[in-house]
Amino acid sequence: FVGDAHIFIVLGASGDLAKKKIFPTLWWLYRDGLLPDNIHFIGYARSKMNVNQIREKTIPFMKVKESDKGKVDSFFQHMSYVQGSYTDESGFRDLNSKINSFPGGTKANRLFYLALPPTVFEDVTRNIHTTCMEHGGWNRIIIEKPFGRDFDSSEKLSNHLSSLFKEEHLYRIDHYLGKEMVQNLLILRFANRIFGPIWNRDNIASVLITFKEPFGTAGRGGYFDQFGIIRDVMQNHLFQVLTLVAMEKPVSKDADDIRDEKVKVLKSIKPLTLDDMVLGQYTGDPDSEGDKKLGYLDDETVPKGSITPTFAVAKFNIRNERWDGVPFILKCGKALNERKAEVRVQFRDVPGDIFNGGTVKRNELVIRVQPNEAVYCKMMTKTPGMRVDPVETEMDLSYSSRYKDVNMPDAYERLVLDVFTGSQLNFVRSDELSEAWRIFTPVLHKIENEKVKPILYTYGTRGPSEADDFIKKNGFEYSSTYKWINPNL
Ligand code: NAP
Ligand code: NAP
Repeated sequence: FVGDAHIFIVLGASGDLAKKKIFPTLWWLYRDGLLPDNIHFIGYARSKMNVNQIREKTIPFMKVKESDKGKVDSFFQHMSYVQGSYTDESGFRDLNSKINSFPGGTKANRLFYLALPPTVFEDVTRNIHTTCMEHGGWNRIIIEKPFGRDFDSSEKLSNHLSSLFKEEHLYRIDHYLGKEMVQNLLILRFANRIFGPIWNRDNIASVLITFKEPFGTAGRGGYFDQFGIIRDVMQNHLFQVLTLVAMEKPVSKDADDIRDEKVKVLKSIKPLTLDDMVLGQYTGDPDSEGDKKLGYLDDETVPKGSITPTFAVAKFNIRNERWDGVPFILKCGKALNERKAEVRVQFRDVPGDIFNGGTVKRNELVIRVQPNEAVYCKMMTKTPGMRVDPVETEMDLSYSSRYKDVNMPDAYERLVLDVFTGSQLNFVRSDELSEAWRIFTPVLHKIENEKVKPILYTYGTRGPSEADDFIKKNGFEYSSTYKWINPNL
């Protein structure tokens, strides 16, 4: 970064994402000395506002320590605000003039973050292209989901973007790719000999990838209802994790070598059908208190009688040499019993059981993404003492005890820093996106056109019991006998 001026432009600076995530992320990177010295931030939006107002809105999310108070002042001294429209070029010309007015501005590298509703993506990118890109530095464009809502709308957006920018300028954020344990998949799989040779259909019975949230829409269901849990979590975040679990070893760890392998996985998956799914929607729990009493349809911002799923399970078959026949089961839901995201690789039964029938349980490798990052492998051992019976136990790497003083950066911090350094490894390429939509679009349309009713489940439970039946039928065995003893208690 030495010497070069960098300008980070947040479009939609008055919004929710800007104040909760983007400005705080820039602050953490700035505080930790990870940004270039010659940096300037510019907020852009239609609202009449100034840097002091951005500061007031953002401060509650910045987690500022007493000792960093002085640095906060200098952070905001590096910030400007430009008011302008998204549809007219004039505001963007003002923005360009503002950028050029900084020392080194005409040669500055420019990062444009679109923290905006998708309705203005096309206008804004066109205006950036027309007015802000002729200069001596590079340009990078960061965009947030939703990248369309089905195959056609996503292709339209991708075609529009590729008419203006090269793929190497585009950084499509999927913040799951910024999570520690998702990034760790590459190391766990390709830097250990113990997993490689058994990572296949001969040894693995099923893979279960789960995302659970313990809260519902809490009065903000209007936005969610246009998308539903499949588009909100499964088609993007869980599918990204699936590709990292399933892909072949890439030629190198270069972004495009890895993304090439991820695309190959997606190409081996047929479009999802309703037969391979269970859909759910939460209802209130009358015996509970507060929000938990309210079901999805009780949220006043949700259209009456909505059939939008808040819970979904789906099974995929990756039709290649390594995986054909191994169910990859993706499960996600809101208003469940806990907050959790994990990958569970379940191995096949040991052939020829010489112990008391049924006591030997399947090995399971669990990669817990959140909360409390951990990798543990459920395995059998001899019951300690005189008996020679097998009993379930675990080999356990818990980050909280193994890496006590390590401060785990937030997903957005890693990803924004990647954009500065030009690493696209953790960003979604247009062909990945297109393949993911190919797989999900037919069933999403069917659910909407035929108004497929979700199964109701109660707020605070593990979801509909039909989901457990479906998962069991598809090769994942739940062993209720495994008991974990937390060593930290
Ligand atoms: P937002 O607050 O609704 O909108 C950001 C800004 O865009 C607003 O402050 C407003 O600024 C402008 N705007 C809002 N509605 C508009 C409209 N109909 N036409 C033109 N301008 C409009 O959005 P956000 O929650 O920050 O989200 C931004 C993007 O990130 C979206 O694509 C969203 O899907 C995605 N995202 C958000 C979150 C989150 O936590 N919020 C998480 C993941 C992804 P002015 O009126 O001042 O111009
Ligand atoms: P678990 O939470 O018992 O769940 C195991 C799997 O079985 C999950 O996919 C779960 O689905 C499913 N399941 C749970 N109850 C079920 C039921 N009644 N019917 C059908 N399926 C069911 O996890 P575990 O790996 O066996 O571990 C047990 C506990 O020990 C967990 O709380 C875990 O966090 C803890 N543990 C922690 C560490 C560590 O921190 N290092 C290490 C080992 C174990 P859902 O996800 O949908 O509930």
